[in-house]
Amino acid sequence: MFLSVRELEVKSVRFEQTLAPGVLSFELEDVKQAGPLTAAGTVELVSSSEEIDVAGNLKVEMTGVCDRCLEPISLPVECEFDLAYYPVDDAGDKSEAEIKSSETEVAYYHGNGLELEDVLREQVLLSIPMQKLCREDCLGICPHCGQNRNLATCACRVEAVDDRWSALKNL
Ligand SMILES: [Zn+2]
Ligand SMILES: [Zn+2]
Repeated sequence: MFLSVRELEVKSVRFEQTLAPGVLSFELEDVKQAGPLTAAGTVELVSSSEEIDVAGNLKVEMTGVCDRCLEPISLPVECEFDLAYYPVDDAGDKSEAEIKSSETEVAYYHGNGLELEDVLREQVLLSIPMQKLCREDCLGICPHCGQNRNLATCACRVEAVDDRWSALKNL
């Protein structure tokens, strides 16, 4: 859904979208969309500055893998957003529009509008936690034998690394 400045000049837009997995390309290695993404909100144009305001909420079930044990995990995403997009010309100069509200996140658009799908994709990406764990105290995989230590204890000894020797090795 393209949000065009020309159309927004006439009236604001209310959107309600359901996007099946595959519609948005997240281009992430391990994180995938597991179910439909639902989003709803409003888009308004501030005519004086050509600022496009996008406010709403979205919900989607994502899946990923645990950073430590590599088991599949579910990453439910639910967020509200209130974003202000300012026009920027092709030379990259930002408009003179002033940023009025510190609570509103600010971004920029090129040309005569922006894709709602791009807005939604970015919000999902921002909502995915940096550290993805199946559980807070995940024990991970043994670096020696590859055993998932949440499931069983392996017989490997944990080697204490002597710092003096590792410093020599780096020479
Ligand atoms: Zn884990
Ligand atoms: Zn082991």
